[in-house]
Amino acid sequence: MLSIALSKGRILDETLPLLKAAGIVAVEDAETSRKLIIPTSHDHVRLIIVRATDVPTYVQYGAADLGIAGGDILAEYGSDGLYQPLDLKIACCRLMVAVRKDFAYEQAVRSGARLRVATKYLQTAREHFSAKGVHVDLIKLYGSMELAPLTGLADAIVDLVSTGHTLKANNLVAVEEISQVSARLIINQAAFKLKRVQIQPLLDDLTRAVK
Ligand code: ATP
Ligand code: MG
Repeated sequence: MLSIALSKGRILDETLPLLKAAGIVAVEDAETSRKLIIPTSHDHVRLIIVRATDVPTYVQYGAADLGIAGGDILAEYGSDGLYQPLDLKIACCRLMVAVRKDFAYEQAVRSGARLRVATKYLQTAREHFSAKGVHVDLIKLYGSMELAPLTGLADAIVDLVSTGHTLKANNLVAVEEISQVSARLIINQAAFKLKRVQIQPLLDDLTRAVK
């Protein structure tokens, strides 16, 4: 049996067509089902539905053999023990620094001011600002990052941006790109050795589907 860990939402939506190209179709609508383990048309493959941030954990411990996780999550929470053979080129976005339109970010940075930055990506943000030599106080948030600069909680946020519509609707502007993000296939290293016969054809199919 092969278990693939996926998160609902964007990753699931964009992954299902890739899995289909590899001959794997969920037997029920994974997006709306309350079931967390979903069988597929393939007798030996099942989907495990977890929170996006939990995907690497399931694969690291081998509770899932494979998973699909955003590059943002892999960078933030680590990718020890994971084999990352394929960029799926889905769920593409950018991790950016954003501020209120009326906040003079460049000037604040140049003047050496200490910035308050709200984000769910503490580790990534810490590395980014420390490499730039900018002093920051980081505030951990779990969602709706856009609110932080509007309410005075923070001067800036570090968050994912795709169209920029949410920023715009909240009078924010992106001022710096930290990284380009897309979803990657991750594989438990031990499983890749022990179940190579099952995993390799799936990897080949997915590689073709991405191209
Ligand atoms: P939740 O929204 O339930 O709190 P989450 O934010 O972790 O969970 P999603 O919003 O579905 O889950 O994001 C999952 C992954 O999709 C992210 O880790 C990222 O790689 C990608 N992603 C997030 N936002 C965007 C976006 N606006 N455009 C494209 N990809 C995105
Ligand atoms: Mg989200």
